[in-house]
Amino acid sequence: MHDCLFCRIARGEIPAARVYEDELVLAFKDIQPQRPVHVLVIPRKHITSLAHVGPDDEAVLGRMLAVAGQIAVDQGSTDGFRSIINTGRVGGQEVMHVHMHVVGGPDPVGPMLKR
Ligand code: AMP
Ligand code: ZN
Repeated sequence: MHDCLFCRIARGEIPAARVYEDELVLAFKDIQPQRPVHVLVIPRKHITSLAHVGPDDEAVLGRMLAVAGQIAVDQGSTDGFRSIINTGRVGGQEVMHVHMHVVGGPDPVGPMLKR
């Protein structure tokens, strides 16, 4: 059992605005949204980063991608979205539990996301 922030959200110990969940992944609204739609999709199991995945993680990583499109539409990003996974120090990862940002809204998100 891990006590990282997103493990605690997955266990329901810390509240989050959940928008999707299944047996492998969970999605909730980012607490500091950068665009009108900003959801984080995470594996229920603790995986520190994309630099820490193993062969057993392929199914859950695939699920994260597979559910992103419907989540984006459900949240109102009906004409596309951007998916971002930051990894490690160089990638600017702040929460050390793999998460995919799904960012969008009615307007194009632009060439880059400003932090
Ligand atoms: P990253 O820089 O890719 O690690 O992104 C971490 C993201 O987690 C940031 O966009 C934060 O706003 C978001 N975040 C941090 N704490 C929470 C929380 N308690 N609930 C939802 N999102 C959070
Ligand atoms: Zn974790």
